[in-house]
Amino acid sequence: MASASSILKQIRGASADAIDFCFPPTCRVCDARAQRWPLCEDCHTAMLELERGDYCTLCALPVAERGAPCPYCLGEGLFPFDRVLRLANYQEPIKPLVVAMKFHHAWPIGEFFAGRLFAQQAIRDLLSTADLIVPVPLHPRRQVARGYNQAEVIARRLGKFGRVPVRQVAARLADTHAQSLTQSKSLRIENLRHAFGLLYPKQVAGRNVILLDDVRTTAATLQSLGRCIRSGKPARLSAIVVATADPRHSNFEEI
Ligand SMILES: [Zn+2]
Ligand SMILES: [Zn+2]
Repeated sequence: MASASSILKQIRGASADAIDFCFPPTCRVCDARAQRWPLCEDCHTAMLELERGDYCTLCALPVAERGAPCPYCLGEGLFPFDRVLRLANYQEPIKPLVVAMKFHHAWPIGEFFAGRLFAQQAIRDLLSTADLIVPVPLHPRRQVARGYNQAEVIARRLGKFGRVPVRQVAARLADTHAQSLTQSKSLRIENLRHAFGLLYPKQVAGRNVILLDDVRTTAATLQSLGRCIRSGKPARLSAIVVATADPRHSNFEEI
């Protein structure tokens, strides 16, 4: 005889099917049926194609082909990081997903991104030697208004996949997020000069630390937090970002 809990499970499953039937989930990019939530089959294929784009693993910016010299960091990397890995360039179909995740309360898309990040061999390798993932913190006022920190949603799921603890060891001291509206690179960097404070230096000392952010635009945010974490003397410091804005296009204002 079926137990009460298995009957409940069946009812829940049936009602989820009914909801799906009446309100089929739609692709967050093109409104077709989302067979692979949050994307339809075609947008999912486009996403895989985008993920295959070659990039410099020192600074996460695009290169012509794997191993080609990076015209942006010239092999120097992005200070103060040992490596910066990413999922894809910030363009369709990842762009509308990031916007929905950040600005339209679609935080579960962060969990989708964590799954896509973990599908990358380079990211699994990096996680296998990591001691700690630190999501880029939001200013508390911003987090209350949004209800969640999207970088933390991604980090928690990715940490679960890779069995790496996730801790918020730094705090945002100034609400610099108004910079989404600020296009000037120098202004963004100036805004972020003292944006973060290290709360728990002992948690990063001598450890392999990974910072996690959603989008690398000018990298000012990442670098500012990176300098703050470096002051705690980690053994290694890397970063993982979901998307990297192409420096040849000035699409910063939308992020
Ligand atoms: Zn689609
Ligand atoms: Zn580079």
